[in-house]
Amino acid sequence: MKQSTTLVTGGAGFLGSHLCDRLIDRGDEVICLDNFFTGQKDNIIHLMNNPKFELIRHDVTFPLYLEIDRIYNLACPASPVHYQHDPVQTTKTSVHGAINMLGLAKRTGARIFQASTSEVYGDPEQHPQSEEYWGHVNPIGIRSCYDEGKRCAETLFFDYHRQHQVEIKVARIFNTYGPRMHPSDGRVVSNFICQALRGEDITIFGDGLQTRSFCYVDDLVSAFVLLMDSNSEITGPINLGNPNEFTMLELAEKVLSIVGGSSKLIFKELPQDDPRQRQPDITKAKSMLNWEPSVQLDDGLSETVKYFRHLLG
Ligand code: NAD
Ligand code: UDP
Ligand code: UDP
Repeated sequence: MKQSTTLVTGGAGFLGSHLCDRLIDRGDEVICLDNFFTGQKDNIIHLMNNPKFELIRHDVTFPLYLEIDRIYNLACPASPVHYQHDPVQTTKTSVHGAINMLGLAKRTGARIFQASTSEVYGDPEQHPQSEEYWGHVNPIGIRSCYDEGKRCAETLFFDYHRQHQVEIKVARIFNTYGPRMHPSDGRVVSNFICQALRGEDITIFGDGLQTRSFCYVDDLVSAFVLLMDSNSEITGPINLGNPNEFTMLELAEKVLSIVGGSSKLIFKELPQDDPRQRQPDITKAKSMLNWEPSVQLDDGLSETVKYFRHLLG
């Protein structure tokens, strides 16, 4: 019998490579697609000799003709430094990428998962954020290429579902961290850990009292698979993240206590449109997927520090 084949776009990136591992572990045939804008071969090198794994270098903004059963659409740079590097390409990746992958899903009858984001809520006026909240997004700021691109992708997913009966699964992912984050992508967890390991100053943007809620990658990937496997009536959007909320000052203290060393905190200007607070309401994920994160920040940070310690040598 033919094994089910799953396409993972952005499969050589941070989340995508962990997802490929999980799918291979459970016996799926996996086609990993990536244009290597922010992804790295090192993230998937251990899978290259596996007969169930295949790698395609391709850009999702161009059409793709393959025969597949499921699509996880993760292709898109995720860190502000990377997605602001070429903002036009970021919007194209989200919007043209969604159109092409939805066209592929429509033609093949594949079920398709979209890696959406808490950024669709912008700088939220509702706290914590539930899926019913429509968001508070600047349409013309420096984060808009990402936020509005992801919002338009959600629109396309729901219109392909209503108009063409494509089976969709839309996840709104909140800040996630873990091994294989890119060391220079500027995200707060990788920045703080690399700075502490190198004995450099820890850069706090603004007063450091803004909050984020950090989910460990293994917990998140479990939710991806549960959502993809769930009943076809569950379309999302569904928040996935860890509701434990921390200030950036608290995060810096935790990183320093794990790494040790002599780094000092220095304060830098807060980037434009930087959300003040962010915390997922995961009531839906708990009830619909019977999922909740289990890895505590201290434990997840220790694993991530181990990874970066090895990487930075
Ligand atoms: P990442 O940058 O590590 O991975 C993105 C991958 O997509 C990379 O391998 C990159 O090379 C690839 N890619 C980018 N543009 C492409 C294109 N046009 N064609 C083909 N491949 C392309 O980021 P990540 O953290 O793994 O994020 C994965 C997905 O999850 C993204 O869609 C992101 O928006 C979403 N997400 C992530 C987080 C998080 O905290 N990590 C939070 C919310 C949403
Ligand atoms: N597409 C693709 N692979 C497929 C089918 C479609 O990449 O197997 C792309 C193609 O570029 C197309 C887009 O998806 O333009 C949207 O497809 P759809 O069938 O919705 O629209 P149309 O073909 O009418 O543009
Ligand atoms: N941040 C910081 N120092 C850094 C990098 C980021 O204080 O070196 C802050 C950033 O301003 C934001 C928070 O940490 O308030 C999370 O930033 P990240 O880029 O990781 O994610 P996002 O803003 O997309 O949630």
